[in-house]
Amino acid sequence: LVNLAGRSVAVVGLGSSGLSAARLACHRQAKRLVLMDNATGGPGEEQERAVEELKKSCEAQGCAVETLYGAHEPEHFEGVDVVVLSPGVPVKPMDRLLAGVRAPSSEAGEGGLLVVSELAFAICEIQDRFGIPVAAVTGTNGKTTVTHFAQQMLESLGKRCESCGNIGTQTVSEVALGLRLGDDELSRLEEEGAGPHTASGNGARSKSGNGSSENRAASELNSHPGLDCLVVEVSSYQLEIPTDHFHPRVAAVLNLSQDHMERHGGMVAYAMAKANVCANMTDEDDLLILPSADDISPTLDEAVTATNAECKRASVGKLPGVCVWTNHSEKTGFASVQLPCWFGPRDFSLGDFSERCLGEHNAWNAGVALLLCFGLGFDWPKIKVEEALGTLKTPPHRMEVVGTTSGGVTFVNDSKATNIDSTRVALAALQRKGDKVILLLGGQGKVKPDGSLGFADLLQQNRDGGARKDVVITFGASGNQIAEELASVPSVHVHNVKTLAEATALSVQLSTPGSFVLLSPACASFDEFKNFEERGEWFTSYARSIM
Ligand code: ADP
Repeated sequence: LVNLAGRSVAVVGLGSSGLSAARLACHRQAKRLVLMDNATGGPGEEQERAVEELKKSCEAQGCAVETLYGAHEPEHFEGVDVVVLSPGVPVKPMDRLLAGVRAPSSEAGEGGLLVVSELAFAICEIQDRFGIPVAAVTGTNGKTTVTHFAQQMLESLGKRCESCGNIGTQTVSEVALGLRLGDDELSRLEEEGAGPHTASGNGARSKSGNGSSENRAASELNSHPGLDCLVVEVSSYQLEIPTDHFHPRVAAVLNLSQDHMERHGGMVAYAMAKANVCANMTDEDDLLILPSADDISPTLDEAVTATNAECKRASVGKLPGVCVWTNHSEKTGFASVQLPCWFGPRDFSLGDFSERCLGEHNAWNAGVALLLCFGLGFDWPKIKVEEALGTLKTPPHRMEVVGTTSGGVTFVNDSKATNIDSTRVALAALQRKGDKVILLLGGQGKVKPDGSLGFADLLQQNRDGGARKDVVITFGASGNQIAEELASVPSVHVHNVKTLAEATALSVQLSTPGSFVLLSPACASFDEFKNFEERGEWFTSYARSIM
């Protein structure tokens, strides 16, 4: 897949992932590119401009480009060797369409058709050609936080690290393109014995021999000017197609709860997609991080077992023998994280972590990030690791403490909580004795098969026997239905208003010193906002305006 010289590549889905994959295909010397998008009305203005620019640059490099908009047909794939699917393109209908085109292949140009995700297409350049070790993070909730924590730690520990994938900053193909070594330099390294697939050294997989020139050249490859390691956030969409081309050095599957059923059609298929993250982790130095035995869902456990991944395993929990985070008291939060025995074992103080990053789940996320950093094959002294832990901040819109008003009301922006499980976790984070929570819930809810939005048990599990009443303000398109579902919960006062602006204004009126106003809406934002970021930004600027 790294060498596409003379091959024909089709890229399906012309968003940012598809366009950067097309650029990468051209850089890998594909001779023909077929760019496809099922947008029936043709491309939007911005998309058209981007495609035209891409076309010009590819043609200037000797790669012919065709563009096709509208429904995909088998004949569009004639003569194609590799099909790259963008994450938004559902895999099953495409598989059906391609079944009659050519026999499937597991490598480019072996006479069949290789169908890969943009992730697999791009990652092999990073991990195989440049030997850069990859950490992968997947799961239903917490992916971005863990990816962000791992990247922050690695950077403060002096590693050149980037994050990419589902995290929304850059696509995997963009990272691969950014790594280009000049061809002259690459040939020189190959001549010295450290060609593609042979990089080794600090953190990278070692596949080279022991000759000194090989080692020297390999370490030159490994000290690529751009990058020491990569943290990739991967969604189930990016993992849906099984592949031989993605083998992270360390991977975490954080959790599994019901989500994206419209794409996967059921929990088993969803779990199998997540488990694909470890399907090629067969090296004894690879590390797979899973929920602890008490927490792992049986469906996920079975899906992971079915991959036959053979590598070290770890989990983060409160029991000895795994990566442990310990709690000193309910009020002050978390004390330390300990690594499992094969890393040391060592104990790292979390310092004031729980003041900066609210919630038990974030201490857990930090534990996973720490395991990812060590799992990449690096090592650091305790003092350095503790300094790095001291720099961690949650990413924007995830339990972000906006600030406290002079009247003692703290605003927390958790706009990214777009499903009920993540709101449950957010609420638990604020359940320190005496804290009054005013929860803003609403937007566009996800309808369950029974027609409900599933809010009836959200607050029951979190209350302390009804001794304290919390306030919920519902808003937006699903506000009314959420209020109705919560009406029978005795420990909650529910108010329903139309918009987030009204809900926030009402929260200020209802607050008292020490209250937390928490935007953790458990719904999508599209009824009022462009996306969850815009919703969170609006809330943050409102909160700041009254501080
Ligand atoms: P993702 O990238 O998987 O969507 P994020 O890191 O963006 O996850 O977090 C989304 C929301 O999920 C957060 O606002 C928080 O409420 C919740 N969350 C974060 N970490 C966890 C975790 N480890 N387990 C469960 N929920 C979590």
